[in-house]
Amino acid sequence: MRRLFGTDGVRGIVNEWFTPERALRLGLAIGSYFGEGAEIVVGRDARAGNEFMVRAVMAGLISSGLRVYDAGLLPTPALQYNVRRRWFEGGVMITASHNPPEYVGVKVVLSDGVEAPREVEAEIERAYWEERFRRVSWASLGERVRRLDDAIEFYVDGIVSQVDDELIKRREWRVVVDTANNVGALTTPRVLRRLGVKVLTINSDLSHIPYREPEPLPNTLNDTSKIVTAVGADFGVAHDGDADRAIFIDDRGRVMPGDRSAALLCKHIAETRPGLPRRVVTAVSSSTLIEEYLRSSGIEVVWTRVGSIVIARKMMEIGALAGFEENGGFMFPPHQYVRDGAMTTALMLEFLARERVKLSEAYDSLPKRYLIKDKLPLPNREVVPKVLEAVKSMLEGARFIEVDGVKAIWDGNWVLVRPSGTEPVLRIFVESPTEKEAEELLRKIKSEIMKVLGAGQ
Ligand code: MG
Repeated sequence: MRRLFGTDGVRGIVNEWFTPERALRLGLAIGSYFGEGAEIVVGRDARAGNEFMVRAVMAGLISSGLRVYDAGLLPTPALQYNVRRRWFEGGVMITASHNPPEYVGVKVVLSDGVEAPREVEAEIERAYWEERFRRVSWASLGERVRRLDDAIEFYVDGIVSQVDDELIKRREWRVVVDTANNVGALTTPRVLRRLGVKVLTINSDLSHIPYREPEPLPNTLNDTSKIVTAVGADFGVAHDGDADRAIFIDDRGRVMPGDRSAALLCKHIAETRPGLPRRVVTAVSSSTLIEEYLRSSGIEVVWTRVGSIVIARKMMEIGALAGFEENGGFMFPPHQYVRDGAMTTALMLEFLARERVKLSEAYDSLPKRYLIKDKLPLPNREVVPKVLEAVKSMLEGARFIEVDGVKAIWDGNWVLVRPSGTEPVLRIFVESPTEKEAEELLRKIKSEIMKVLGAGQ
């Protein structure tokens, strides 16, 4: 069976791979999975082509007899929150998240608000490829689409209810919000204003040709970080296209990796919500400084494979106070088991208000590490076990985590070598106390790997 779903939904370039015909067929397949009478929320982000994408997907859902609630433009976590907390049996979000602007995508959410697991995706794929659709007869097709006008309000109320708004309001905040010219503009500024924050928005008109690339990274946030320091903001926050990620920029204009901000938030949540399990879940791509930092608070770190859905499902299984990825995805279970950029921003305000520190001071309190991300072309997947063995014998004596490739940890250093899930490359992450040590370590690891790759050719 050919795959349709990637790591996070079905994605493709609009009007090239992802045509209205394919969107309609996918809508029929999703509708056939949920079945006649199911009540589903549909929403979209502001990407080019989404006006036809959403109509084509909806046509398929309606033909299968679903009742569709049209939430219009909203972030993915806002749709997910409405699905989880209201009567809906699922949701469909039209978004390509952080991908470049020419992409569109479709995500399926189940009644718990979390993205569908692989088994459900496979069932939808089977219906799609075999064109086995359940369509209803004319007599069942009454008015099938309703508007869900209060989805954003319901979501914003939900976030504000999770934080100590009185504590936050005691301070005069100035925050720069960069929403990648997409739907985060509809929610994050509203949440912050409810918390008494003076908000300065940039890249916040909903433009199908965004001013910056939708993925929040140090190189895409140069202008944003200059604005944060120029206006003397307490911090800046930047979302991806569908606003489930939050990357913070401190008051000195430094773009913080998502695992660093997550470490601060995890400790804060543990101190302020003692009823939650003292455990956090993250993927092997996060820094091990998390463990060093959280150990003193008695918080355990559980490592998983890379992928937000894997993290979410693990948290639901074992219980956790939070889950996160180094790309800025952060999950706070009392709110919902999915990444949520606006919720993360509200928690950051609560943390800074309680600790009475600047974000730059908090950032500097974390252990110092230098991270390099690199990759090597991978000629074939058969060679992967040999590569991983070679890395392990080279780093003998380290502690190994082997849930996704090999992660080796020793004395403030760590190395992760794993085959990419989406490209024919081997991803190599190296982190050390200094830049020089990291470079030296990377050079050694790469030459060891090249020996194996060379021998296999
Ligand atoms: Mg996203």
